[in-house]
Amino acid sequence: METKACVGCGWCCLTDQCMESHRKHGYMPRCPEVFWDPFQQRYQCSMMLDPVQGLASRKALLQGKGCCAPLNPWRDDVRNRDHQPISPWEATESPEKTSTKG
Ligand code: SF4
Ligand code: SF4
Repeated sequence: METKACVGCGWCCLTDQCMESHRKHGYMPRCPEVFWDPFQQRYQCSMMLDPVQGLASRKALLQGKGCCAPLNPWRDDVRNRDHQPISPWEATESPEKTSTKG
């Protein structure tokens, strides 16, 4: 399958923590590092954005190597989903079904 660039839709981070997040925060309902960036209109990772301490995380998480879920429909509807109930099941539904706020 062809690799697609990350567009910051947030699907991967809002539905599941990565290993780096688990190491730093333990198991959480939502990764504390993911946030909606209103200027870039996409989700960002504060851990990976750290210019010094983020280096190891960026390497471990293969930053720049492409999207880990290229078929997820959120990619085509990038928006703030902070107030939307998130579950792995809802995340795989169509954007129309999951569209409540944002
Ligand atoms: S699902 Fe893909 S496009 Fe969306 S935030 Fe994750 S890596 Fe980026
Ligand atoms: S630490 Fe960063 S990459 Fe990992 S789940 Fe949280 S926001 Fe996503």
